[in-house]
Amino acid sequence: MIIIMEPGATNEQIEKVVKKLQDNGFRINMNHGDVLTVIAAIGDKRLVQPHSIASLDGVREVKLIQEPYKLASRESKKEDTVIEFSNGVKIGGNNKPVIMAGPCSVEADYTGLLDVARAVKAAGGEILRGGAFKPRTSPYDFQGLEEKGLELLAKAKSETGLLIVTEVMDTLDLPLVAEVADIIQIGARNMQNFKLLKAVGKCDKPVLLKRGAAATIREFLLAAEHIMYAGNEKVILCERGIKGVDSSSTRNTLDLAAVPVIHKFSHLPIIVDPSHGTGRRYLIEPMSKAALISGANGLMIEVHHDPDHASSDGAQSLTIEQFNALMDSINDMMNKLGMNSENATVAG
Ligand code: PEP
Ligand code: MN
Repeated sequence: MIIIMEPGATNEQIEKVVKKLQDNGFRINMNHGDVLTVIAAIGDKRLVQPHSIASLDGVREVKLIQEPYKLASRESKKEDTVIEFSNGVKIGGNNKPVIMAGPCSVEADYTGLLDVARAVKAAGGEILRGGAFKPRTSPYDFQGLEEKGLELLAKAKSETGLLIVTEVMDTLDLPLVAEVADIIQIGARNMQNFKLLKAVGKCDKPVLLKRGAAATIREFLLAAEHIMYAGNEKVILCERGIKGVDSSSTRNTLDLAAVPVIHKFSHLPIIVDPSHGTGRRYLIEPMSKAALISGANGLMIEVHHDPDHASSDGAQSLTIEQFNALMDSINDMMNKLGMNSENATVAG
């Protein structure tokens, strides 16, 4: 930590701070400026609580230099976390980016879901997405098919072999969701639902944690830390846009810089959801490509068999045809850049 002393701090006050830190094993680096004395202290902050230093006489401010997340941090684990599934799909590290695609909500029309799932599979996608439990801003909007939706996802899985990612909104539904999901999704609205984070932390299934719409990267990684601290280290992060200043142009502001930032500070894989990130169909392709170039370990794309009649997020959902074109275009780019194989992602 960095301790900045008041301009008028006495030698006695400075020595008292230094002694308290040294007595607890901290290494001290003193910097006596013309006006201020700054003390850099390196050690284990669990042994000296920063507030116990901040409250000493003559101390102006205490700043922490170490990130508060530990298990999620690159410092604690240098190698990228790679999450591997029984069918050989791998998410993270230098593996080929994964494609998760499917409708926003699972709807009663199973044929539509199956058409989408088959298209995802045929285009080289690995994971079918679809919400059975839907967090909706308005109580008057479609709330999801719940258990029935999970059944339809299970059926589509058995017919296509795709893995399933689906959202859990409540700890009470977790056993049901975990039975069908290969990856349990925590939605943006629940990124700081700590009880839910702890509950999925006790599951043995990988968790896709979406960034809260107003969450800093630090808060995002601390949410992941909750899951990991509870015992589940298989966390996949998902950038899905944050509240911006111009919702008339895009639904959210897709923070693509978050991808290399996360890779710098964490070993966890991160994917990008340009569908919720932009809310606009025409932006999915450029943002998908930009995400992959930024080092994303995968993409989550909303696709619907009939977007004009979708129960949710039709405006940002691609048709099957548009999804196929997107995949062609992405594959073309990845082939040109040598990203379509093992050791595939750009940044690390
Ligand atoms: C979703 O992926 O279905 C969803 C609701 O997204 P978000 O939590 O990012 O809004
Ligand atoms: Mn959606």
